[in-house]
Amino acid sequence: MLTVNNLAVHYGVIEAIREVSFEVKEGEIVSLIGANGAGKSTILKAVSGLIRPSQGEIVYEGTPITTATPKQIVEKGISQVPEGRHIFSGMTVLENLEMGAFLRKDKNEVEKDLQLVFDRFPILKERKNQDAATLSGGEQQMVAMGRALMSRPRLLLLDEPSMGLAPILIKEIFHIIEEINRTGTTVLLIEQNAKMALKIANRGYVLETGNVVQTGTGEELLESDIIQKAYLGG
Ligand code: ATP
Repeated sequence: MLTVNNLAVHYGVIEAIREVSFEVKEGEIVSLIGANGAGKSTILKAVSGLIRPSQGEIVYEGTPITTATPKQIVEKGISQVPEGRHIFSGMTVLENLEMGAFLRKDKNEVEKDLQLVFDRFPILKERKNQDAATLSGGEQQMVAMGRALMSRPRLLLLDEPSMGLAPILIKEIFHIIEEINRTGTTVLLIEQNAKMALKIANRGYVLETGNVVQTGTGEELLESDIIQKAYLGG
């Protein structure tokens, strides 16, 4: 579904990632694991068209999207939940969710998807008329995920959904990610929380200072020396 070949991104003279290659097959959950500054967010921003790679190619369903705009990429069915959620404050929960569908013309289907989001996140229905900025961190993560789902993506990009959440909420968010995947959405997940991200992943890639250093199934990586030593204190 998504193939990233030999990708490099520079910020001025800083090389954030180099020669990164990975793929996501339809129906999978793929996790990219890496410490702070490894280049995880940079990869997601390149896939969603927010930054231009200096080298390499990104192919989505057989079509190169390396130089496509963020709008074109959303229209093709890729949606990103950004790190730190980026909730629109001063807007209600409902308005935030509606923003996720602003490119869609099929208003009846949008209404159906809104109901699906409320079914998935009942708390958001209760709080739909409340300023989204007043929600808790976990609820804001749900708004960000719900907003992304409102574009009816086929590929969902998640940037550190567990960041800043209590362990019980992290479990809930990962459970919801599995549910979203089970109902037909392919997921590319970026995480520092290696344990949770690899537990739910079909496959994963480990990033270190801008490079992929290991790949395997979620189970294989959980047991690998590199993950045990660097992330799980083994
Ligand atoms: P974190 O988990 O801390 O968010 P990350 O793995 O997502 O980290 P990136 O944000 O992709 O890492 O950053 C990769 C590298 O690129 C880092 O060395 C970072 O300092 C650098 N970098 C990121 N954004 C910029 C920018 N706008 N200008 C200059 N350097 C940047």
